[in-house]
Amino acid sequence: MTTSATATASTASTASTAALTAGTSDRTAQDRIDDPSSHRVLTGDRPTGPLHLGHYFGTLQNRVRLQDQGVEMFVLVADYQVITDRDIADRLAEHTENLVLDYLAAGLDPERATIFAHSAVPALNQLLLPFLSLVSVAELSRNPTVKDEIAHSSQAAVNGLMFTYPVHQAADILFCKADLVPVGQDQLPHLEVARTIARRFNERYPHADGSAVFPRPRALLSDAPMLLGTDGGKMSKSRGNAVALGADEDATARTIRGAKTDADRRISYDPVGRPEVSGLVLLAALCQDRDPEAIAEEIGDGGAAALKRTVIDSVNEYFRPLRARRAELAADRGHLRQVLREGAERANAIADATLAEVREVMGAI
Ligand code: ATP
Ligand code: MG
Repeated sequence: MTTSATATASTASTASTAALTAGTSDRTAQDRIDDPSSHRVLTGDRPTGPLHLGHYFGTLQNRVRLQDQGVEMFVLVADYQVITDRDIADRLAEHTENLVLDYLAAGLDPERATIFAHSAVPALNQLLLPFLSLVSVAELSRNPTVKDEIAHSSQAAVNGLMFTYPVHQAADILFCKADLVPVGQDQLPHLEVARTIARRFNERYPHADGSAVFPRPRALLSDAPMLLGTDGGKMSKSRGNAVALGADEDATARTIRGAKTDADRRISYDPVGRPEVSGLVLLAALCQDRDPEAIAEEIGDGGAAALKRTVIDSVNEYFRPLRARRAELAADRGHLRQVLREGAERANAIADATLAEVREVMGAI
């Protein structure tokens, strides 16, 4: 999965252009969502550590953009999914609060976005049972994201929750009948499972009038669908290769200085041939809202040191306001918990209604 990894962005200046994709086909690009009120967005993150620049340019920026366009937004903290690839959810409460902190600092507004932890919404989790009956074990075992996460898992043996992860994610998306899901590229196979489950459920259990219960959700990719980390692999919370959104400027500089590059002093933007160097160029380009080619050209023969200086300055400058907001918000942990409580209340009302509808079409009353 990480081979196509790199930044597939053609230009950073088109970073405002989102690619709407329905699995591997039906790919269209558009700047604005037509008729925002006809859409519902769901996305989420695992509370496994602080959000990083990959989250920001991969999905968070798109979430804020959609929220600001007036699309109804659900953002979930996928706390049960933490224990797909590790035995114990370490410092879960702290990581959960910090996710909310990152969301608010990035511009998600709890008045307009429902932010909640999925473990606090029992009816959402109950959807897992009928959904599990709609996919085969073979389909789950060949899911490329599951395979990649198993490869990076810290567990001695793969647990059952790992294989049902995409089905759980389908429940996350479909409980609120979301039709748009801003995610990174690694999530596309999971999205495909959610689409399959929605289709099969609708075929098997239509309403009496023949109408469908669930929409078929579509992934919304940014132009940085797979930002690379300092080791040249997908930037990930759990892989020690990330620059955290909330990192201070010195820590940012240290992390970027340690990034892998290559021996060629001439800096170019070639995501396939030079993934590590190109990942850094792209990061500077995203922060400066410029073309990666122009950034590479400007650095020219300056080598990795000049490239890293540019990246460090670009990142620190771009994220300075977000980091300042984050520091202010961090003072009130009670507020973060309140956001989650209110979000869970709204999510529970919706999940209860969806579960009632599911039970009804299945004839379970
Ligand atoms: P973990 O290592 O714990 O799996 P992660 O960094 O992969 O953490 P997730 O919580 O699994 O983060 O992913 C949350 C969302 O962010 C998903 O939509 C995912 O596709 C997106 N995302 C994660 N990493 C990147 C990245 N490097 N580039 C773009 N999008 C990313
Ligand atoms: Mg992940």
